[in-house]
Amino acid sequence: MKSNSPKVVILSGPSGSGKTTIVERLLSESSVSLQKCVSATTRPARPGEVDGVAYYFMTPEDFEAARQANQFLETAEVHGAGYWYGTLKSEVDRAFQQNAWAFLEIDVEGAIAAMEVYPDAITVFLTLPSIEEYERRLRGRRSESEAMLKKRLQTALKEVEYADRYRHVVVNDDLDAAVKEISQILESSCSN
Ligand code: ADP
Ligand code: 5GP
Repeated sequence: MKSNSPKVVILSGPSGSGKTTIVERLLSESSVSLQKCVSATTRPARPGEVDGVAYYFMTPEDFEAARQANQFLETAEVHGAGYWYGTLKSEVDRAFQQNAWAFLEIDVEGAIAAMEVYPDAITVFLTLPSIEEYERRLRGRRSESEAMLKKRLQTALKEVEYADRYRHVVVNDDLDAAVKEISQILESSCSN
């Protein structure tokens, strides 16, 4: 496994763009040693999501206490639904201690804050060919109520406007091709 000096990788993209699917593939297939930073969130766990694996599920009070204690690299209230998400600095440190690259899968607002702390981060924005395709994939995932799905689609439209803030934009049309493209971006950053 290649690692070189530890780096930060930031992947963003609207809900339904395939981030979770692609992260799983990259973690097992990339020749670069990657460590996913497990985010903290105040949103409830979905069926099958394990605390400490999918997220650190926190009460709003615990999240606020962690924020006051300066434990977060960045935080954002994503989708305007009142749920907070944040990257714990300890997760980035954990990756670096293992000589792995810290992999952040976070929203655009958090990504821009993290880019200020890590200006050399490898940043990738994942997108889809059309808004109709976002809707198709979100519906296919069956994880959302109708109201939440509409919110996520509204957020998607706003988020794509931030794509040009990222070094790389990858269209997740064909899954294998998108995984390959991001793997190549990571490999080509190895020697930098
Ligand atoms: P995100 O984490 O960005 O919200 P997911 O990884 O949950 O997105 O993907 C949303 C849905 O789209 C899932 O059901 C996933 O299996 C599916 N999906 C991901 N990539 C593709 C692709 N290239 N083609 C078709 N379906 C895909
Ligand atoms: P979900 O609720 O579907 O798991 O995630 C919703 C959104 O939250 C996704 O866009 C995801 O990228 C974002 N997100 C997850 N973790 C973090 C985080 O630590 N910080 C920020 N800013 N966004 C996050």
